[in-house]
Amino acid sequence: MSDGTSGGLSLRFWGVRGSLPSPGAGTQLYGGNTCCVELRCGPHLLLLDAGTGARGLGDALVAAGRPVSADMFFSHTHMDHIGGLPFFAPIYQNGTKLRFWGGHLGRGAFEAALDRSWSAPLMPDLRRMFRADLRFEEFRQGSTLQPQPGLRVETAALRHPGGCTGYRVEWQGRVVAYATDTEHKPGDLDPHVLHLARGADVLVYDASYEEAEFAAHLGWGHSTWQHAVRLAEVAGARRLVLFHHEPGRDDQALAQIEQQAAARRPGTVAAREGMLIEL
Ligand SMILES: [Zn+2]
Ligand SMILES: [Zn+2]
Repeated sequence: MSDGTSGGLSLRFWGVRGSLPSPGAGTQLYGGNTCCVELRCGPHLLLLDAGTGARGLGDALVAAGRPVSADMFFSHTHMDHIGGLPFFAPIYQNGTKLRFWGGHLGRGAFEAALDRSWSAPLMPDLRRMFRADLRFEEFRQGSTLQPQPGLRVETAALRHPGGCTGYRVEWQGRVVAYATDTEHKPGDLDPHVLHLARGADVLVYDASYEEAEFAAHLGWGHSTWQHAVRLAEVAGARRLVLFHHEPGRDDQALAQIEQQAAARRPGTVAAREGMLIEL
């Protein structure tokens, strides 16, 4: 396992499911936790979203026994992307430093939305129990962020109810694009997604649906694996990772999708919990 000391870039998937956790016998292979990806860029720890997968990551970080300092980038504040935060163990530890980055809401609204999710009556008033040093960084979608020296993060608005942000993380010439919770228009390639994904080593993309299911879900803010393949092709992304799996999709169905997508574009994989990609 990469511990970040190699200086390279690595991604580990802790939650790959969209919309709702889906535990059970039928989802053991790909996993049932919602969106959370750990990115290591040399010594820097980044998180992409904090769905229920953040619990496992938090436990692993605590077990590693070092103080946790992380930049957490949120696509948006739907529950499947923030629901793991109250169960992210480092947030209850003195010495933890967390910076929350969000750009899909207006001024002050990102922190307010997270605060609401941690407060009564939705939760006990957790913010009083958190021991971590929390900082909120609100940005305008389309801006380029430099959270750490040598780390460049481009942002763009995605098509999703209530707004959503896609990210392009660049570290020492390696590039990861993360575009989830985004709906395409049939026959059209979103210039924002193409911009984020241009020449990326890895493109993580919302593949909630199959093409045949898409018409019944217009306006829900998600895309298809077939569209993901087209996007990756045009953007010149090297490896496509299908992400945000439908909660009702079992391992067998996902394996079939993965096989079909890989036949169209070799190297394509469906994200699964625990999967590690090192660049
Ligand atoms: Zn989602
Ligand atoms: Zn959403």
